[in-house]
Parts: sequence; structure tokens; C-alpha cells
Amino acid sequence: MALGRAFSVAVSGVDGQVVEIEADIGRGLPGVHLVGLPDTALNESRDRVKAAVTNSGGKWPDSRVILALSPATLPKVGSVYDLALALAVLDADKQIPRGSLRRTVFLGELALDGRLRHVRGVLPAVLAVKKAGWSSVVVPMAGLAEAGLVDGIDVLGSRSLKETVAWLRGDGALCQPMPVAWGEPDTYPDMSEVVGQPEARWALEVAAAGAHHVMLTGPPGIGKTMLAQRLPGILPPLTETESLEVTAIHSVAGTLTGDHPLISSPPFIAPHHSTTVSAMVGGGTGMAKPGAVSRAHRGVLFLDECAEMGPKVLEALRTPLEDGEIRIARRDGVARYPARFQLVLAANPCPCAPARNSDCVCAPTVRRKYLGKLSGPLLDRVDLRITMMAVASGALTDEIGESTEHVRARVTGARDAAAERWREYGWRTNAEVPGPALRQKFTLSRDAVRPIERALRNGSLTARGADRALRVSWTLSDLAGTSMPGIDEVGAALDFRDRGTM
Ligand SMILES: [Zn+2]
Repeated sequence: MALGRAFSVAVSGVDGQVVEIEADIGRGLPGVHLVGLPDTALNESRDRVKAAVTNSGGKWPDSRVILALSPATLPKVGSVYDLALALAVLDADKQIPRGSLRRTVFLGELALDGRLRHVRGVLPAVLAVKKAGWSSVVVPMAGLAEAGLVDGIDVLGSRSLKETVAWLRGDGALCQPMPVAWGEPDTYPDMSEVVGQPEARWALEVAAAGAHHVMLTGPPGIGKTMLAQRLPGILPPLTETESLEVTAIHSVAGTLTGDHPLISSPPFIAPHHSTTVSAMVGGGTGMAKPGAVSRAHRGVLFLDECAEMGPKVLEALRTPLEDGEIRIARRDGVARYPARFQLVLAANPCPCAPARNSDCVCAPTVRRKYLGKLSGPLLDRVDLRITMMAVASGALTDEIGESTEHVRARVTGARDAAAERWREYGWRTNAEVPGPALRQKFTLSRDAVRPIERALRNGSLTARGADRALRVSWTLSDLAGTSMPGIDEVGAALDFRDRGTM
């Protein structure tokens, strides 16, 4: 009996766990047996690995080979183990130096000719390898750039099984990753390109400063999309930890670009209104793919024409809005993806969507129903609701608006002030603060809360609406640089609500 051992990683969601692969070459009829919960793709690995070994100049043992993956209860989806499977067999057959696989974890799918192919989720896999205390990892060349984002572990890129074996025998070198360029933000379209719309611009700034979800209502072509696209640009850039978190999700989604994989700016994700539940929150066969809500993690999720979206899709947004993450149940466990995003909803005021409100041909009940389907739990979380009006013709000649850079500086200042205030309670932005805490932790002056109390008494404001107004007034105060919202900020926060259609 000859035993070989190699290590790889099982990735589920953005979590990974090191998997031990044992190869046993024993007596019996030639054949390959896989044990330890393999899925279909992994079963196909048998043939791929065998072909790759013989086509790379290695020899496949002509007796019975048993391959075992452990822990046996772990989900082992896909083709990421190919390289480790091949190496375990070569180790058992003494074709590579004894002990050479002890310190390194191997990732990658093998082509029949022995080339090493890219797999999804290289970054979360390498993060898991480092966390488990390993000192080195070998990945396919196409995943080298993203793997290289992880420091504190030796990362090497390999083109093929042959190259990997040569390296293990001390006959050649593998590729080192290029140094990472941190803090090189993506460029988003500039705020200065937005013509007019001072109120909507201001609302966007307030939304960015307090991390408030926002809904823009207005006729088609008025610039809702244009504004939404500029929100990520005025948000503070991601920290290094956040960048890795976001990049890991996009690594599993398979949406990273080769040479510069690091995502260091808040992402902007805009699914079409015909999108499905599983495209929105994640799912699919095999390894669960992250949905739009997770790809928008730490960035902006923009839902244009949200009134046209299916009720199930809108309903599915509740959990991520509540928990900041999504758990997808799989046959072999639960895949977890973070999903903390800033929501921007955009809607036409009615189904016929005329350029001018006066041209609307919809019946009043149709009009009311149209946005009514958004009501309830979803809209309860939207602190800012803005109705955009057509730009007056004179406004086109107005001076150019402020640049993204200027606005971002104010937003960053306001966010710092909010983070400082809520630090001891564990909240980072005003939008995260629950209603009761808003009312109890800091008491506003009698004068300041009077307009809210009045609106509550005469029924024009609900208790939830009052909390929203308080939240926004804190953000207005942070933007104004005052220590606490006064009557002006509270009044302006209530105004924001009044301008909305609901
Ligand atoms: Zn209409």
C-alpha cells in the first residue's frame, strides 16, 4: 500500500476551509474511486486528472487508486481540487519528492493536456489558507493577481501540472505576483456633469453622508440614472479590509478583471427590472453564485423602474436589508455572502410615464396602485424620497455644478462625525441606528422636536416616519458641522419627506 497526501480548499460563499486529499494505491483492478461527498463535477475530475497526468509526462498507476477528501462532511463542489488530486496520486506513486506537499496548498482545474485552469473564488480560498496557518499556496496563473492581494503568505502562480511538478522537484520556479497598487480608485462619472437638479443633487449628498437608502421618483429622462451612477463616486473609498471583502465576493462571482483585480471603490450594481430572485440574492446550481445584492456589498444597488420588478424579487430584498448578508441553502450546507449595500430605487410616477405630469392618461387608481406595490417593509427602510421635476429651460445655462471630489470631501467629513458619535454603540452610519436608540441616546431640544411632534399629532407623520426624519436630521447636522440637529435640520428633514410622493 502506498499513500499520498495533498491539500486544497473548499469554498462555500466567501468562506473557505482547507481540505485534505489522500490517495491510496492498492492492489486490485485498475480504476479510480473517489470518496467523501463528491459532486458531479468532482466525479468528472477522475478522468481529467488521469489524462492530465499522462499527458504531462507522468505515469498513472496501473492498479486501483482510491482518492479520499476530508473532512468528509464538507461540500466539495467543482474542479478546484484537480491539481491537488493529481499531486496526491504522484506523491503516493513516489514520482515527486517525499514531503514536498506538506507546506503548500494547491488550487486549480486541470485541462486534459495538463494546463492549469482558473477557478472561481481564488481570493476567498487563499484568505482561508492563510487563516488556517499555511505558509504557501499555488494557484493558476489567471488567479495569481487576485491571490497576490493577500499578504503574509507565499503565493505562486503555475501554468500547468508539469510546471508544478518541476517546481516540487527543484527543477524550476513558479511565478510571483506583481505588487498590489492599493488605493487606486475607480473613476466614476462626475457630479459636475449633472445639469440643474440642485435638490436631487443635495438629496444624493445627504444619502451618501448618512448611508440612507433613497428613492427617486420622476418622469423618464429626467436624470435619475445619471444621478444614481454618481453616488458611488461621492462615497468614501473602501478601506483595505473592505476592498478585500468586496473583491472576494466578485472573485466567487467570476467578475474580476485579470491584471487589476482589486476593487477599491464602492461598486455600482444595476440589475434589470426583469431580474429573477436568484439573480438578485444569489443561487444557481453547483457553487452558489453571489447575487446582485452581494456584488453591491459596500457599494450601491440601483433598481431602475423598480415598480416594474416582480413582487417576489422586491420581497427578497428584505433579508439583506435587515441582516446585511444572505444565506443560501444548498444540498450540502449553507453559503453565506455579505450584502450591505446602499439602495437607490428609481421609479416613474405612473405606468404611462409621460414627460410632463399633466399628460398622464392613467386612471387615479392605477396611479396610486403603481407605486403602492413598493409599500411596506421595503419602503420603510428608505429614509429619503425625492420627486424630481423637469428642469426649467433657464437652468440649462446655469453654472456648472460642484465636482464629485468636492462633494465627497463633505460626505467623508459627515461620515467621520457620525462614526465617532455612534462608535460606542457599534454603528457606523446614521442609517444603521435603530429608532429607539435615535430617540433615547441623545435628546434633541424641545424646539427642535416640536415640528415632528406636531406632525405626529395631526397624523401627517407615522412613528416610523418620525424616526426616518430624525435619522436624516442627524445627517444634515453632520453635514453642517453642528453637534446636534436643531430646528433647521429637523425642518429640512421633514421637508425631504414632504417632497416625496408618499
Ligand atoms: Zn400615467
